[in-house]
Amino acid sequence: MDLTGKAALVTGGASGIGAAAVRRLAAAGSVVAVADRDEAGARALAEEVGGLALPGDASDPDTMTMAVDVAEDAFGRLNIVLLNAGVTAGQSGIENLDLAAYRRIVGVNIDHVVFGLTAAVPALRRAGGGTIVATASLAGLVAMPGDALYTMTKHAVVGYVRSAAPTLAPEGIRVNAVCPGFADTPLIAKAKDRFGDFPLLSAEDVAGAIEAVLERGEPGECWFVQPGREPAPYAFRGVP
Ligand code: NAD
Repeated sequence: MDLTGKAALVTGGASGIGAAAVRRLAAAGSVVAVADRDEAGARALAEEVGGLALPGDASDPDTMTMAVDVAEDAFGRLNIVLLNAGVTAGQSGIENLDLAAYRRIVGVNIDHVVFGLTAAVPALRRAGGGTIVATASLAGLVAMPGDALYTMTKHAVVGYVRSAAPTLAPEGIRVNAVCPGFADTPLIAKAKDRFGDFPLLSAEDVAGAIEAVLERGEPGECWFVQPGREPAPYAFRGVP
C-alpha cells in the first residue's frame, strides 16, 4: 500500500504510539482523523497535521460508527483505520477484582477493536478496499505474569484479527495487528514500577512498524516489534 493520498482514521491518536502514527501517516501524504477521548489533545494534533479531530469514547459502538462516518464524509473516502486506543488494567486480575476497571479495559481494548472493525468494513468496502491495523501487544503473543487482564485483552485482539482477516481479504480489506514490546509512552510510565527496567521502544519505532505493516503486511499477519530488531510477522506455530 502506498500511503500517498490515503485517508486514515487513528483511534487513541492524541498520545504515544497513536500520535506518532498520525504524524507518520501525515508525513507520508495521507490525510488523518485523530480520534481520542482526550479532546484537547486530538484537536491540537489534528491542527498540527491539517487533519480532523474526532473526540469521543472509542469503547462506545455508536461513537465508532459516527467517527467512521464523519471521517469518510470529510475526506470523501476512508482507506486506513488504526484501532490503537488502549489502556492498562492497573490490577493483576487474579484476585480482588476491581469490576469497574475490568469493564473499562475490556471496553477499550476489546470492544473498541470489534466496534471499530465492524464500523470500518462498509466504509473500506465503499473505497474499493483498505487496511485495518489493531495495536495489540507483545502481551497478545506471550504470557505476562502479573498482568493477566491486559494479556487477555491483547490475546483477544490477536485472535480476532487473525480470524477476521481471511473473511475480508477477498474483498481487498486487509486486517493486521502490531505487537510491540514495551514502548516509552504515558501508558507504560504507569506500569514501570511493576515491571522494573527493560529496553524500551520509542513511539516512533512502533509507528514505523505500523507504516511497514500498512505497506507490506499480508492478511492476518501480526507484526512483532522489539527494540533493536526489524519489525516482522510473528510466526505462529500451527496445531499439529
Ligand atoms: P497512551 O496512553 O500514550 O495513548 C493511548 C491513547 O488512547 C490516549 O491518547 C488515550 O486518551 C486514548 N484512549 C484511551 N481510552 C480511550 C477511549 N475509551 N476512547 C478514546 N481514546 C482512548 O498509550 P500508548 O502506549 O501509545 O498505547 C497505544 C496502544 O499501544 C494501546 O492499545 C496499548 O495497549 C498498546 N501498546 C502499548 C505498549 C507500550 O509499552 N506503551 C506496548 C504494546 C502495546
